[in-house]
Parts: sequence; structure tokens; C-alpha cells
Amino acid sequence: MTVSHIQPIAALPREVVERIAAGEVIERPASVVRELIENALDAGATSVRVELREGGLGLIRVTDDGWGIPAEALELACQPHTTSKIAALADLDAIGSLGFRGEALASVCAVAEVEITSATDESGLAATITLAEGHVTAQGHTARSRGVTVTARALFAASPARLALLRGPRTETAQAFAVVRAYALIHPAVRFTFVADGALVFSTPGTMLAEAAQAIYGATIARTLLTIEDRPIGEGARLSGAIASRATHFANREHVTLAVNGRPVTNRALLSGLESGYRPLLRKGRHPLAVVALQVPAGALDATVHPMKATVLLRREREISAALREAIHETLGQAPLSVGQTIHDGASVYMARPVQLTLPKGRARWPGLRRTAPGTSADATDEAPEKTLPDLTPLAQFGNALILAQSPQDSLYLVDQHRAHERILYERLMQQRAALTDKTPEGAESATGQALLEPLLIELTSSQAAILAPRLPELRALGLDCQPFGGSAFLIRAVPHLTGASASPASFAEALAQEAAEEGDDWLGAVCVSLACRCAIRRGEELSLAQQRELLADLRGVSASSVCPHGSPLLLRYTQSALAHAFEW
Ligand code: ADP
Ligand code: MG
Repeated sequence: MTVSHIQPIAALPREVVERIAAGEVIERPASVVRELIENALDAGATSVRVELREGGLGLIRVTDDGWGIPAEALELACQPHTTSKIAALADLDAIGSLGFRGEALASVCAVAEVEITSATDESGLAATITLAEGHVTAQGHTARSRGVTVTARALFAASPARLALLRGPRTETAQAFAVVRAYALIHPAVRFTFVADGALVFSTPGTMLAEAAQAIYGATIARTLLTIEDRPIGEGARLSGAIASRATHFANREHVTLAVNGRPVTNRALLSGLESGYRPLLRKGRHPLAVVALQVPAGALDATVHPMKATVLLRREREISAALREAIHETLGQAPLSVGQTIHDGASVYMARPVQLTLPKGRARWPGLRRTAPGTSADATDEAPEKTLPDLTPLAQFGNALILAQSPQDSLYLVDQHRAHERILYERLMQQRAALTDKTPEGAESATGQALLEPLLIELTSSQAAILAPRLPELRALGLDCQPFGGSAFLIRAVPHLTGASASPASFAEALAQEAAEEGDDWLGAVCVSLACRCAIRRGEELSLAQQRELLADLRGVSASSVCPHGSPLLLRYTQSALAHAFEW
């Protein structure tokens, strides 16, 4: 924070008050928690403790070790529009603090009984103030170390309408938990402690993001985290964070934490940049675990639009979103394969303990099996995720659909033959496409096509034809030679040639052209997925051991060997210890 604690607390001038979005700041216990945490962070705290009782209706208490509020300013700080963070209109364009509206303490005092203790130095002397319905009821002294404690009791006791809108204590605690969790992840250098109804929920060490994530999510999830290295993304903006590998995913966005300049925010553009970075590694409807912190120059955002400051207007939103997608792509591209360690939905909304999804713990390795992995130490654990797909030896085919295979570490693999082949063909197509679009933008000279004996005439609707026409050069680059034939008719002369394909694209050339005529940004990607899917070995086909071996060898060469192009898993790994556990050996 660039706030200086030397600034006195003062009432904001009218023109500033009028510029700031007016509105309800305190909706529920979680809003109180958010405001008090922001005040603590603005005061340079290195430790923030949040305590809740009965979902916050019993008590909300936030304790920090920041620079404190001077005794003589305590009463003023609780008045509306009094702040030490900005003084004039011009300051609104360069806000370096989380707070600036000067409304939070006043709003909390209006709906709860509030007690504040504050010490501005280490003399041990602290001032106290108690307010009820916004009026001071007591003032005094007490002893404490530097910092501020704000305790709010009887929240909304005088506003039954507000109370009626609240959910049960469990849900309110969960909401507050989500708030504390977000700030703890975004400010890992600050120690955060969250206590609900007397039980410690989590406590972060005040070091790095990886450690904060471990304290909150547990070691199993933290191990799957990949660091997004801090990087400049133009015009003074920077991006950093950590994301879980595709092995960890959830049914909702609860575990996506986006921050702009230290504050958790919701922003559609950022969210879509993040999620498109994961595509197609995550199936539709699944959401990652991610913490992404964006730092932009103060002038590049307008935080004044939302009373709770949760929504921000970002300048260069598109560029920033694209940079985020790029960063996710790159980070996931280096991700280790975590087959058999898939983690999802283990976490209920509110966790009394950190999410701990323990994998079956095996006893001793099982002695009867050979171990051929060179350089594998005796105590190497087979629970560790593998960096790349190991060299798999096929054992048999099951149901003409799955290849059973063994790794040098004696893990058992089940490989879905269709999806594996689909992935291989898809990556081949993507390479072809990249090579050809590099060479000739027109792609007309593509040598990949396989000429049809008889050209195929297809008839599209006029809107399909309008979409398809400008895409023809790119389709030719893939090997699909499709030419206008008057009106909305087209003539297909050649189809893509895919080495190792199980079906000829000639059989579905028309369907392919139809798909290429569909709206969408990544239409070419969609065509490639469809092409790979239709040409891949089907489930139900019998494969010789040699064919199985070839498929597994090809699979080792792909970049994302654990999911098919649609994002579904294509292999399962059973470690020895998982088997030992299941059999109770
Ligand atoms: P704002 O944060 O928008 O300035 P608040 O109503 O939240 O408004 O707080 C009013 C003022 O009280 C702040 O500007 C700050 O000077 C002081 N203050 C509030 N909480 C703390 C705290 N935990 N530590 C130090 N100062 C605080
Ligand atoms: Mg504040």
C-alpha cells in the first residue's frame, strides 16, 4: 500500500462524496469482514485475525497489528465520509489504498454495536470507544500492543428486514470464509487467521502464495499448484499467481480468486481469459482452482463504480485478458501429468478444516513385481505425479475399448483407445495447421489433401455460405479443398489426409464443411476436434498388440496426454499403493 499513516483522518469534501458510488456497503457479515480486513491491510498490518460467532450475528472481530488509529481520531473515524486515505477529487484518480470512501466504519456502526480498541505505538497504552446505533456510549483506555481490534456485535439487530435476508449461520460463515480466504491468498505475506465459533479454520504463515494455499487448501491440492511467474504485461501492468493443474477442478467458480491491485474482484474479461487458457484441458462445466493477481498503475482502473468495490473497470481489458490466457497456457504447458490424482469437488462450500483429499495410502510396495525403471530409488513413491507419460507396455485389450498397460514403475494404466487416438490425430492436425499458416497465408498449395475420385457437390444455406466463403483458404491449409460453385453451393475436391486415420474423411466431407460454416471464434479448432474424433480408432475395434504398442508410443509424443481434445480423461492410472489399499493387502 502506498498510503501514508501520517495523513490525518478528515471529512471528505462534498464534491468527492458525490463522485463516489453511493450504496449499501454492509449487506451481510461477510461485508463487515471485508471492510475490516481492508482497513487492516491499509494500515500496514502483517497479521490479521478474523473471528466469527454464529455466522457473524453473534460477533465479528478483526484484530490487526497495523499502525492504529490515534485516540483523538477514534470518534471521527466512525463518522460517515471521514478518511485518511484521500483528501481531494484528484486523489480519486490515483488510489493506492483498498479503502477510500470513508464509509465502512460508519456503516458498521450504523447496524451493529461496535467496540474499537486502538494503539498507535508499542507503549502498551490503547484507547477504546464503544458505539451503539452510531452514538458513542463509552470511551476509555486499555492495554494492548500496536494495532486495532474492531468488534461488532448484534449485527442488524435493529433491522429485521436485513436480518430476514440473511441465510443460516453456516452459509454466512462460508461467505465470510470465502472473503478471508481470498485476501489471504492475494496477500500471502500477511499472516491471516480465521476462527469460526471458537475453532481455528485456517492460519497462513505470512510468507509465499504456495504456503498460504497449502494452509487453506491442504497439501494434496497445494501440490498440484503451478506458479505463474510474475511477468510484465505492458503499460506498467504485471501478472502473477498460481493455478492448479487440470487434475484439480470443481463444479463452480468458488475457487477462482482474481485480484486487481490487492483487492478480490469479479471481472468478466479476466475470468474468460483465465478459463479460455484452460480450454480444452478442462471439460465443459468444470472450473479450475486459481489465484491470479493483477497489478495495474492506479490510473488504469476505476474502482469508484461499485459500492463494495468488487467490480472494477479495467482499461486495456482485452489485452490483459489475452495476456492472462497466454500465461495460463504457458504455465499448463509445463504442467506435470497428474493422472490418478484427480481432485474434484472434495470441498464443500464451507470447510471446518482445510480441504484435504487424501489419496489411499498404501503399505509397503508390493514385492512380487519387477522394477525396471532406471534410476528409481527404492523409496521413490509411486504416488508422485509423473512429469510425462511413461513408456507403457501393453498387456491386453479390454472390451475392444481399453488398452491395459504397465509402466516401468508398475502402475497399471487403462487407456481409452478412441480418446487416445483422437488426441494424437488432433495434435497432428494442429501441427499441420501451424506449419501451413506460417508458410502461405492463402494455403492454396497445401499438399495434405487427398483428392476425391468424384468431386462432391454440397448445398448450404445462404447464411452458412456467407460464413464459409472467407474461411476456405484456411480449410485448404488443412487439406479440405472446397470451392464456391455458384449461389450457396460448394464443390469439395479433396479431403484432409491423416496418417493413421481409421476412417476416411471422404465419408464425412459434407458434415465437415457444415461444421466449418458455423459461427464461432475458434471454428477451425472445432473443425480439427471433429475431424480427429471422426477419424480416430473407435471403441469396439480390435487392436493387435503391435497396434496397441504403436498407439501408446504415439501417445507419448503428444503434449497433453491425459485428456482428449474434448477435455475428457483418456487414461487412468492405478498405482501399486492404490491397489494395495483397495485389496487390503
Ligand atoms: P476508509 O477505509 O474508506 O478510509 P473507513 O470508514 O473504513 O474508511 O475508515 C476510516 C478511517 O479510519 C480510515 O481512513 C483510517 O484512517 C482509519 N482506520 C480504520 N480502520 C483502521 C485500522 N484497522 N487501522 C488503522 N486505521 C484505521
Ligand atoms: Mg475502509
